[in-house]
Amino acid sequence: MRIVLVGPPGAGKGTQAAFLAKNLSIPHISTGDLFRANISQNTELGQRAKAFMDAGDLVPDEITIGMAKDRMEQPDAVNGFLLDGFPRNVSQAEALDEMLQTAGMKLDAVLDLEVEEDEVVKRIAGRRICRNDSAHVFHVVYAAPKAAGVCDTCGGELYQRDDDSEATVRNRLEVYHTQTEPIIDYYKAQGLLVTIPALGEVADVTQRAMDALKK
Ligand code: ADP
Repeated sequence: MRIVLVGPPGAGKGTQAAFLAKNLSIPHISTGDLFRANISQNTELGQRAKAFMDAGDLVPDEITIGMAKDRMEQPDAVNGFLLDGFPRNVSQAEALDEMLQTAGMKLDAVLDLEVEEDEVVKRIAGRRICRNDSAHVFHVVYAAPKAAGVCDTCGGELYQRDDDSEATVRNRLEVYHTQTEPIIDYYKAQGLLVTIPALGEVADVTQRAMDALKK
């Protein structure tokens, strides 16, 4: 299966992607995680991406599309993948279509996680992520770890992402509305869009997503 996950920052894309990828036995490809890995390894790509990410802006397409394409061409992705955070604008969506078409492949579904803006801001402000694995996500109020600052799952250190500050979150939401939301209509027109409410328990949202994908 080839699936794209869309939704505003804080919709729970990363959390859901980890569960869905496991259930479907396909790799979870997150462009945000790829950028953060490049930044922590101080690669040239990471150095180029950092300022855009810290401001909550999109990293330019000429950096992003090549990186995403390289990852999708890895052997573990030949039979499918779950894209999280890519595409994030219409020109990336067109580049993805072109790439898949050339390879004789197509997308099976685009899953849109729907959440209200107020909820998103609350979620992001309290979000804490494990340094070992970005799928280990906590929230200081809604999903507090047993010991402050320590991952329940693996004991790793929890941290707040640089771009999770309130000012940056507002810009990320603005960028989402202006640049990313248009891909929802783009995929609706292709008959690929599946919208599910992303409120409630994590496991319930995963179940809703799995049910929607089976159809
Ligand atoms: P979230 O969905 O919570 O905003 P991500 O980890 O997906 O978090 O993305 C973090 C940042 O990485 C984005 O704000 C952006 O700067 C950059 N980024 C990730 N994916 C893309 C993309 N497809 N195109 C451009 N920039 C991207």
